[in-house]
Amino acid sequence: MRHRRKETHFHKSFPSSWQTLLAALITFLVCMLVIINISSRISGSLSGKKEEATAFMEGTQMADGQTGTGQKAEEESSKEEGEEKYQNAGQVPGAPGAPEITEDFLKPNKYSRSQKVLKKVKGIVVHYVQNPGSTAKENRDYFNSLGKTHTRKVSSHYIIGLEGEILQCIPLGEMAYASKDRNVDTVSIECCHETSSGKFNKKTRKSLVRLAEWLCRTYDLTEKQVIRHYDVTGKMCPLYYVEHPKAWKKLRKDIKKKIKNNREKYKDQPSEEPAGTEKKENGGQEKQTGTEEKKEIDKTEKPAG
Ligand SMILES: [Zn+2]
Repeated sequence: MRHRRKETHFHKSFPSSWQTLLAALITFLVCMLVIINISSRISGSLSGKKEEATAFMEGTQMADGQTGTGQKAEEESSKEEGEEKYQNAGQVPGAPGAPEITEDFLKPNKYSRSQKVLKKVKGIVVHYVQNPGSTAKENRDYFNSLGKTHTRKVSSHYIIGLEGEILQCIPLGEMAYASKDRNVDTVSIECCHETSSGKFNKKTRKSLVRLAEWLCRTYDLTEKQVIRHYDVTGKMCPLYYVEHPKAWKKLRKDIKKKIKNNREKYKDQPSEEPAGTEKKENGGQEKQTGTEEKKEIDKTEKPAG
C-alpha cells in the first residue's frame, strides 16, 4: 500500500512539476521579449533625440529628414529597393520653358543623396532654410557635408537663394530627405530668407513661383499640389507662410497664373533636355549608363534643336 501510494504520488507530482517547468520557461521567454522590446525602444528614442539635438546645434536647415523609426523604415525599404538604388535616376524630361537652374549635385551619400529612385511626383513641398541670411550655396554645402559628418539625414532637390538663384542639389529622379512621409512622392524646394520672420524677398519669391510652375507643368500638377512642409508634418515651415496664410494663398495664386500663361506660351515646344541630368561629374561616381530606362528616354526625348 505504501509503495503504491508513493507511486501514485510520484505519478501525480511528475506532471505538476513538468507544468511548473513549462510555466517558468514561458515566463522567462515573455520577460526576455519585454526586455528586448523596451531596450530597443529606449535606444531608438535616444538616437532620435541625439539627432535632433545635433541638428539644433548646427543652427542650420532643420527640415525633416529621416529620424527615429522613420529612419529605420527608410533603411529597410532601401534594402528592398536595393537594385534600383544605384541606377541613374536623374533622367526626367522637363516641360519646355525651364527657369535658369544651376546644377550643383551633392556627392552621393546616404545622409543627403541616397540615390533612391523617386518614382512618381504628386506634389511640390516648399520649405524655408531657417537660417536667416545664409546663401543657397552655403545650404547646399551643408547638405553635402552630411556625407562626412553623418549628423542627420536632410536635403532638398532645390535651394533658391537671396538673389533668386536656383541651385539644384539632387536630380529629379532621386529622392531628397526633406518632408518625411512625402519624400517618396514630392520634389522639395528650400528657400533662403533675410530675416528670422522667414519672409522670402522679391527675387527669391519670384524664382519660387517660376520653379514651382515649371515643376507643375513637368509633372502635370496644379498649384494646389504645391504645399508647405507644414501641410505634411505640422512643422512651422516655411514659417512666414504658415503664420500668414493669405500670403501663401497669394503665392499659390501667382503660381496658378504662371502655369496658365506658360502652358499657352510653350504649347508648341517639345520637352527640354531631361531635367536634372548629370552634366558634370560632381560626386566622383561614374554616371550609370545602359539601363533600359535611360535608353528609352534618350530615344524619345532628344532636346529641341
Ligand atoms: Zn521644411
